[in-house]
Amino acid sequence: MSTFEPIHVVGGGLAGSEAAWQIAEAGVPVILHEMRPIRGTDAHKTDGLAELVCSNSFRSDDPETNAVGLLHQEMRRLGSLIMREGDAHQVPAGGALAVDREGFSDAVTATLQAHPLVSIERGEVSGLPPDSWSSVIVATGPLTSPALAGAIRTLTGEAELAFFDAIAPIVHRESIDMRVAWFQSRYDKAGPGGTGADYINCPLDRDRYEAFVDALLAGDKTSFKPWEGTPYFDGCLPIEVMAERGRETLRHGPMKPFGLTNPNDPDRKPYAVVQLRQDNALGTLFNIVGFQTKLKYGEQTQIFRMIPGLENAEFARLGGLHRNTYLNSPKLLDSTLRLRAMPRLRFAGQITGCEGYVESAAIGLMTGRFAAAERLGRPSPPLPSTTALGALINHITGGHLETIDEGPRSFQPMNVNFGLFPPLERMPKAEDGKRLRGAAKAIAKKRGLTDRARMDLGRWLSGSEIPVAAE
Ligand SMILES: Cc1cc2nc3c(=O)[nH]c(=O)nc-3n(C[C@H](O)[C@H](O)[C@H](O)COP(=O)(O)OP(=O)(O)OC[C@H]3O[C@@H](n4cnc5c(N)ncnc54)[C@H](O)[C@@H]3O)c2cc1C
Repeated sequence: MSTFEPIHVVGGGLAGSEAAWQIAEAGVPVILHEMRPIRGTDAHKTDGLAELVCSNSFRSDDPETNAVGLLHQEMRRLGSLIMREGDAHQVPAGGALAVDREGFSDAVTATLQAHPLVSIERGEVSGLPPDSWSSVIVATGPLTSPALAGAIRTLTGEAELAFFDAIAPIVHRESIDMRVAWFQSRYDKAGPGGTGADYINCPLDRDRYEAFVDALLAGDKTSFKPWEGTPYFDGCLPIEVMAERGRETLRHGPMKPFGLTNPNDPDRKPYAVVQLRQDNALGTLFNIVGFQTKLKYGEQTQIFRMIPGLENAEFARLGGLHRNTYLNSPKLLDSTLRLRAMPRLRFAGQITGCEGYVESAAIGLMTGRFAAAERLGRPSPPLPSTTALGALINHITGGHLETIDEGPRSFQPMNVNFGLFPPLERMPKAEDGKRLRGAAKAIAKKRGLTDRARMDLGRWLSGSEIPVAAE
């Protein structure tokens, strides 16, 4: 029997299951509260833990040149249950890791049920956890039950827990053609924390604007699920809905050309301008301002590349609009994912503002380790932000920039991607010492980032005090 007080984990999805496993493996008892089957969600169909609600894919398994593949590898190195069972229930899917969803969920459930330090309690936690629960991880996901979501919202403040995301696409800064685009804030206004040249501007002439509106109108859109409703709120209309309201609507909304002069062509006034705003503290990612959309992903890539300056844009994230409960984490959570206002509560999974099965499980993994280390009185050295796990936590807890001007808050859910990693200090060169270009350069850069991540995770692990699975 362990002498430690248990840690409570609320929600037995991807994040909660992984967190419970990490805590128990560290030698601390854990009580996992899952409301299914007593109360369901609009997306879950079973009472199994770690149910995959939609696709059965964990995405790319390539740890050399893909950020989510690297995240898989790091999670395996940290003894992840989700990755262990994902690997054990793999089905053929080319370079992706896809799993047999039933076998996977059954195995996660059975493993946790059999663990001597894990108790599973079925039932909804319908308000803030009682004071007697001295350490709690809330991992209730994008479809957190309304009663608990309401209690969290009261605690954090109305504006800090969202029920929908309204995602504008994010572009890798280095893929924007700055021979066409330019840096300038509207009317050169500096604003709080700004310089007067904070936005990247892409100019459209009339023909390009008309073609762009035509493409938006014709583009294939995703529809809302019946239970999602139509969350057009806060001035967050999808751009295609704005275009449907009139051909000039966008030119008077997010694409207005006023207060901007194109230094590449100063005598010609652009007919419309698309603005991109810095999204992360590193300055590697820029979001397209006001471009939340329900266009299908393939359409988005094609249509947004019609914008001058974005012809070769690489997207770190495409746009979307979904039912999704998530916190304004950069403001609310500390670096070990504790709620600043009530540090006995930690958060994990998609509710923290990451996106995706693997990312949710990854944040569950780290939150579980942080909570266990705290219970054991051991230090939890911060993860290097050069690792995929560290980059993701850094984005959630501090790496994201708040908007530099008025408007809805800008923190939106995000998959792991290389734009979240600090840039390499030195760009890799070809074997003959020459500068690399094009695809060769892009691959060498990704390899440089993943090699650095592996080395830095190794160093971190050697100083880490919680036992980890053998590599
Ligand atoms: C409809 C939909 C489709 C998605 N499709 C994909 C996809 O194809 N691929 C992908 O990578 N990501 C997808 N996601 C995004 C996301 O990665 C998944 O939702 C993922 O499951 C999130 O993991 P989680 O652990 O944070 O939450 P979940 O896996 O949803 O787990 C949360 C758990 O908490 C329980 N719970 C909620 N409230 C309470 C409460 N008050 N008390 C006790 N238990 C509670 C729920 O029953 C659930 O089991 C999708 C999301 C949604 C909503």
